[in-house]
Amino acid sequence: MIGAGRFAPSPSGDLHIGNLRTAALAWLTARSSRRRFLLRIEDLDAQRSRASYADRQLADLHAIGIDWDGEVVRQSQRTSLYREALDVLVRGGHTFECYCSRKDIREAQSAPHADAARYPGTCRELSEGERADRRNSGRPPTIRLRSPRGEYAWEDLVLGPSASTPDDVVLARWDGEFAYNLAVVVDDLDQGVDQIVRGDDLADQTATQIHLIELLSGTTPEYAHVPLVLNRHGQRLSKRDGAVTLADCAVQGISRERVVAQILESLGSVGQRTLRESVADFALADLPTAPWIFVSPADC
Ligand code: GLU
Repeated sequence: MIGAGRFAPSPSGDLHIGNLRTAALAWLTARSSRRRFLLRIEDLDAQRSRASYADRQLADLHAIGIDWDGEVVRQSQRTSLYREALDVLVRGGHTFECYCSRKDIREAQSAPHADAARYPGTCRELSEGERADRRNSGRPPTIRLRSPRGEYAWEDLVLGPSASTPDDVVLARWDGEFAYNLAVVVDDLDQGVDQIVRGDDLADQTATQIHLIELLSGTTPEYAHVPLVLNRHGQRLSKRDGAVTLADCAVQGISRERVVAQILESLGSVGQRTLRESVADFALADLPTAPWIFVSPADC
């Protein structure tokens, strides 16, 4: 079977130019390596996800020349797959129940010598009696991954040799909602995704995901973590930076052709006008390594 790349947006707002650029990179990398390209809507977070945002995201991707194979998949309709995978992990002894509130975790992380970005380990080694006490207190547990302590290394197509340590991430929340790291791994395996191109803000999650893939007997895909887009002050691009979505651009009279041209220019692609025209000459290795500083065409 030929492999697949994918783009997997969370429908919590319109895609901004940085998201569109990452999607273009994922599409170009898949198409130039003759892979299928899949679109998956990561809408498990019921509070932040809106179907109307998903529709607009798909329309914007289409508008800049991205196409995809097969039906768009929505994570909210695939929860039985996540349940099965979670059962495998629980039965294998690779999980533990966590009774911490967000506040408990924040406090433990701010203790001297604690790592502020990782789960502090509070519930990892609870005895049977301690667990029974917590259960009786009425607080339903989240299910966390019991991750190994060592490093995982991967050869990143953009970052080069990379490594990080898996974290005890949440797999299922106390209210039964499945979490990002479980769903993303289950879906990529189920959909035959063997190439993941995404923003480098997710590079830290990669070791955890490689570990989960191994526990679920899957094959590790290739990874490319691409730099996020920054504003002229070197900060992550946000709504405050002017015309950053296609809708903003349209209001200001900036055509989508101009947006596509700007994205292609940022990829070091010279002389091509559409994504499709760029496929033949595209190579991730040619991607400029410096972050792209975005200046809205309205401000040029
Ligand atoms: N849904 C994630 C996001 O929008 C992307 C997940 C992934 O590419 O692994 O940031």
